[in-house]
Amino acid sequence: PTPDGPLPIRRLQESVINRIAAGEIIQRPASALKELIENSLDAGSMSIKITVKDGGMKLLQIQDSGCGIRKADLPILAERFTTSKLSTFSDLARLTTYGFRGEALASISYVSHLTVITKTKTDSCAWKACYADGALAAPRGTTSSEPKACAGNDGTTITVENLFYNTPTRLSALRSSSEEYARILDVVTKYAIHNPHVSFTCKKAGSSAPDVSTPSASTTAQAIRLLYGQTIAKDLLYASISASDQIDATSDASSEDKGETWSAEAHFTNAHYHAKKTVLLLFINHRLVESLRIKKALESIYNGILPKGASPFIYLSLQIDPQSVDVNVHPTKREVHFLDEETIIERIASSLQQKLIGQSQSRVFEYQT
Ligand code: ADP
Ligand code: MG
Repeated sequence: PTPDGPLPIRRLQESVINRIAAGEIIQRPASALKELIENSLDAGSMSIKITVKDGGMKLLQIQDSGCGIRKADLPILAERFTTSKLSTFSDLARLTTYGFRGEALASISYVSHLTVITKTKTDSCAWKACYADGALAAPRGTTSSEPKACAGNDGTTITVENLFYNTPTRLSALRSSSEEYARILDVVTKYAIHNPHVSFTCKKAGSSAPDVSTPSASTTAQAIRLLYGQTIAKDLLYASISASDQIDATSDASSEDKGETWSAEAHFTNAHYHAKKTVLLLFINHRLVESLRIKKALESIYNGILPKGASPFIYLSLQIDPQSVDVNVHPTKREVHFLDEETIIERIASSLQQKLIGQSQSRVFEYQT
């Protein structure tokens, strides 16, 4: 207020609103990259190559071998709420793709210089388009914002430059470029493990040796060995759990009768592996998410199995009926809730626990004989 009374209320400019909203979805280079990786996976890519400069703040580039984007769609590509993945609200319940809000590219275009080069199988050449504030923009030093024909492979290359150049508070909230790069590697590593059929590479611009590099047509266990090392890989147990598995043969109604459909797969370390901190790779319906509840439940089954202060490595991929997951919680889609959360978590935890106990008992027998 001023001594003369309150200031008038004014409508914020559209571009200011969008920039603020964008900062909420894209918090740091790693969160921009997560969205871009998900788009590349949604596009059916078998190869995803990432190049990073200055922790992703100067440059974040992702080249994929996916289906590409139709030239006719380029003008609205970076507009908010434009998507090829959802058309009616009820589609939300059947969602099998990562994306659905059509907000990622729009958000990125509000807080960076965004360039897209894309080619579909039927295009005879690739098309290059630059974006600012949700719309096509003329590249620096030129006057036309029209997409330009250029050479390129099938697939899409997205280049994000000078992230947060126009949102100084976001920029100043970031850590050092090495810390931001570590977060980027973490995201790439986790998606590479969850998508062992896809080849991932991630490197710093100008460096010839990638920091993450996986082959295509691999398996989750192989990817864990490659990316987290033999120390973890040699002590891994595996469990595949589903709603129809009977924990207790005497339980009356099978879960199938109740119409439950879910399944889970886990790779988790045994009693011989001791880490300082729990590493949990949690995917729900293929989306990398975090859940304190699941983490706590899983950590607690290691109590009594691991010495005090020691922690496990756990990869858990949970698939639930899309109808029972509420993905529409937050734009970052990190926070996921689902029906029967407690029962499902309990079933998974007890199944891992049985394997852990079974394994340590068979070890005892081995030693005795
Ligand atoms: P969403 O993923 O929620 O649909 P995005 O803003 O992330 O929204 O992307 C908008 C649209 O752009 C997608 O629906 C998709 O059609 C297209 N798209 C984005 N990235 C790619 C890509 N790497 N390959 C092919 N199409 C893409
Ligand atoms: Mg997306």
